[in-house]
This record gives sequence, structure tokens and C-alpha cells, in this order.
Amino acid sequence: MVNKLKNDLNATLDALNSFRIRALFGGEKEILECGKLTREEWEKLLDYLVDDETERRKVLIALKSLGNATLSQLEQEVGISNFNLRKHLRLLEYEGLVERGIGENANSAPIYKPVLKPELSRTPFEKIKFIVDGKLCVDCGACVSFCPVNAITIVDEAPVIDENKCIGCGVCNVACPRTFLYLDLIREYVKGASSNLEQEPIASYKNALSAQTKKEEIKKVCQDGGIVTSLLTYLFDHKLIDGVLAVKKTGENWTSEPVVITNKEELLQTAGTKYVITPTLIGLEKAKKMGLKKIAVAGTPCQIQAVRKSQVFSDNFQELMGDIALIIGIFCMENFAYQNLKKISEDYCKVSLENARKMDISKGQFSVHTKTGERTSVPVKEVTSLAREACHVCPDLTNELADISVGSIGSPPGWSTVLIRTERGKEVFQKAQEEGYLTSKPLDETETGLPMVIKLAKGKRKRNLEKLESKRAEGNYATYF
Ligand SMILES: Cc1cc2nc3c(=O)[nH]c(=O)nc-3n(C[C@H](O)[C@H](O)[C@H](O)COP(=O)(O)OP(=O)(O)OC[C@H]3O[C@@H](n4cnc5c(N)ncnc54)[C@H](O)[C@@H]3O)c2cc1C
Ligand code: SF4
Ligand code: SF4
Repeated sequence: MVNKLKNDLNATLDALNSFRIRALFGGEKEILECGKLTREEWEKLLDYLVDDETERRKVLIALKSLGNATLSQLEQEVGISNFNLRKHLRLLEYEGLVERGIGENANSAPIYKPVLKPELSRTPFEKIKFIVDGKLCVDCGACVSFCPVNAITIVDEAPVIDENKCIGCGVCNVACPRTFLYLDLIREYVKGASSNLEQEPIASYKNALSAQTKKEEIKKVCQDGGIVTSLLTYLFDHKLIDGVLAVKKTGENWTSEPVVITNKEELLQTAGTKYVITPTLIGLEKAKKMGLKKIAVAGTPCQIQAVRKSQVFSDNFQELMGDIALIIGIFCMENFAYQNLKKISEDYCKVSLENARKMDISKGQFSVHTKTGERTSVPVKEVTSLAREACHVCPDLTNELADISVGSIGSPPGWSTVLIRTERGKEVFQKAQEEGYLTSKPLDETETGLPMVIKLAKGKRKRNLEKLESKRAEGNYATYF
């Protein structure tokens, strides 16, 4: 009993002494002055972090007293849920305080042991500059939304930290999908069961469909089957959301910006694919400022990874950012900086951006459709080197962490491929269909249907995980396991 009390006390002291808590506690004046969090929200954030950090330190203290231990031994010793225990162990590994080894043989449970004198090559929860310098940044905008003192802004498609404002809390590191991304845990959170990353290129899903909008006004402006816009319209019509994070063109030359949409009429302006990196998740902060309580997010896999990561690794996320009613994930092979999109359209396809009506990637061709009805194309492999470097270490094509994933591969022109992944996704899709927003049929099982989606997803995952390994060897890192 005395020992337990002593350990609990030590864990709390260690937690209070951790640099994250000290930074957020010491940053009271800066945080409240910048107005992003109210006093009440700041206090709740601190409470949450102290509890979370204390629990993690308890795991470490238990491990130190056991010397080394399996998960079940630790579970008994610390008395917290298996999921939370694994979450803490992953973060302790990330901090360099714990090592995970294999058990007696390949089939035994892993053995965890404390690292008594960690030799840290980096400060744990270091600010995200190293992600930008290492060209791993996907420009999702999550760090901008989560920074409690507004120290981060996006300049030239990458975040820049104002060192005069930064309080060194490391919140940006936890928000970033490229610092660590323990996909096994996040998958389990989304779908309730862990799975093998490499064996499942498109991960698990409940239904695979081809679908098309039944709304004429959406057909006129959408990219493929108009499913993203139709589902969001259904959610607005039924007041299931009061806002959507999406991307809108800002002019005739294909510049684009992240937007928070609050009604279905404006939603039509976001339809269509812009092959331009756009920090959609800046909208999380905007939505909070606007007082929105139930939002949907439509985004690329990297953006959805950031949202899910925050749901798993920052339990106070919902309280701060509102309820995420639905996550619609867009398929994505790669994306481009604005200047490179211009190069593809103007230098390769000989179409000025002002004259480009629509762009798409299909059957290995990047095509630009003009306002006067012509189409010119370039093989994707000729322009893939112009994609953002971070896309070449991205393992996900089909947006596996979404409630519903939507893409074009696998379906005929004018239709969308839809993978329904969660119960929430299934319910929304079924209701939207029953009420006449869209129609669907099973996804074609022949070569050009589902097998094609799996083949391309597998190729992307294999290629990019290999590149990721070489990035790690260079000293940059993003951890997917
Ligand atoms: C960068 C990018 C690459 C893609 N690559 C592939 C691919 O390789 N294979 C494939 O099958 N499908 C790919 N897609 C998906 C495809 O282009 C369509 O977005 C998808 O089929 C949905 O079509 P829809 O008609 O239902 O969407 P719509 O109803 O037209 O709605 C489009 C939605 O996409 C969002 N959006 C547009 N541009 C962006 C952007 N840059 N970042 C984030 N969100 C955006 C809009 O906000 C809107 O909500 C890609 C999409 C993007 C954005
Ligand atoms: S990937 Fe997203 S969160 Fe990470 S540094 Fe880039 S913009 Fe910020
Ligand atoms: S390829 Fe991956 S990293 Fe690049 S934009 Fe698409 S989802 Fe994001």
C-alpha cells in the first residue's frame, strides 16, 4: 500500500515536472492573451495532460520496478485498459524511455524494458520544424490549429514557427501526422480491431460500391460521382452538421484555400478536385471560433490521419474542437505544390490555368480539360517527380481511417468508388441513398474494379514504405507502426 502511494506520488511529481506540462503551465499569460483558449479550456487541457502524463509515468515506474515485462504483466501491475497501456508504451518508446523487444520466440508476446539512460537524438515532442526541414510535411494545417499561442502560420505551403511566440509545449508534434502515427492503435480506435498494415493495402471495409449523385446541381460541378458533395448535402439538410471543412478554388487560376462551409449552397463551390496541397485542417480552429459544434471533414488520407491521431492521442480534442460527425476520406495517390500544378498544366499539357476547367488523373494519365471542351494529357509517370516530396513516403491511397472513403479508381466515368468503413459511415450512406440523394451498385469485381483499387493501393504502400525507411536512415522520421 505504502509502495503504491509512493509510486503514485512519484508519477504525479514526474508528470508535473515534464516539460510539456511546465511549458503549458508557464505559458498561461501567452495562451490566454492570444485568445485561442478560454481560461476554462486551458485549465481543462492542463488537467487532461497532467492525468495523461501521470498515467504514463506510472507505466514507466512499474516497468522500472519489474525490470522488463510483457503487456499482460504490465496490465496487472498498473491496472489501466489494454488500449491506454499500449498508447502510453508507444509514446514512451517515442520518447526513448522504453524499448520493445521480441519475446523468447517470434510468436511470444513482446517484452518491454525501460531504457535507463536514454540517449536522445531529439527532444521528445520537439516542435515540428524538423518535419518541415526533413520534407515530410504534408501541409495539412493541424499544427496551426492546435498551437495554443498562434505561433504557427503557413508560408509558401509549409508551416513556419514564430520563435517569439512559441512556448515550446510540443502540442504541434502530437498533432502532426508525420511525427508518429501508430496506425495499429488508430485503426483499432476507428474500427475496433487491429490489423496488419502491410497485408491490407486498402484496409478493412464493410461495403465496396460504385455510386453516383442523383442531384443535378451536383452533377454539373463534381469531380466523379459527386458522392462527397451529396453526403455533405444530406448532412446539412438533416441538421446533422453545422459545418464542413473543405477546399475551394479562389479564382480562375486554380489557387485554392481551405474553407469552413456552413450551408449546402456554398458547398457546391467546393466540389471538384484541386490537385494542390491545401491545409484543410486550419479549418478546425476556424470552426471553433465560429462556434460550430458538429462538423464533417472531407480530406486526403494525410489530413484524415491528423484528425484521427488527435482523437486518439489528445483525448480532449472533441471538447476543444467540437464533435466530428463524419469523416469523408478522399483517395489520393499524390498531390502537388501550386507552382508544379501550373507547370503540369501549362508546360506539359499546354493549357493555361485560366483556361483549365477540370483536371483528373485516370488510367495513368494526368488530364487537363479546357473551358472550350478540349482535353490534353501527360502520363502520370512523367510528372510524378513534381509531386510533393512527402507524398512519396505516404502509405495510404484509399483513406483507410475515414468513415467513408471516396475515389475514382475502380468505377466508370461519372461514378465514384465508395468504401464504407464504419457503422457511422454505413448509416449516413444508407439514409442518403434511401432519401434519393444518390444511387449505388456493387463495385465491379473484374480486373478494372476492386482488384485495380487493391493493386494500386498495394503498389503505393510498398513503394512508399520503402522510401520511408530510407528517410529514417537519413535521420528524419515518421513512425507508422
Ligand atoms: C490531391 C488529390 C489526389 C487524388 N488522387 C486520386 C487517385 O489517385 N485516385 C483516385 O481514385 N482518386 C483520387 N482522388 C479523388 C478524386 O479526385 C475525387 O476527389 C473523389 O473521387 C471524389 O469525387 P466526388 O465527385 O465524390 O467529389 P466532389 O463531390 O466533387 O467533392 C470533392 C471534394 O474534394 C475536396 N477537395 C478538393 N481538392 C482537395 C484538396 N486538394 N485537398 C483536400 N480536399 C480537396 C473538396 O473540398 C470536396 O469536398 C484525388 C483527390 C485529390 C484531392
Ligand atoms: S504535416 Fe501538418 S501538422 Fe505536420 S508540420 Fe506539416 S502542416 Fe504541420
Ligand atoms: S499522397 Fe499522401 S501525403 Fe500526399 S497529399 Fe495524398 S494523402 Fe497527403
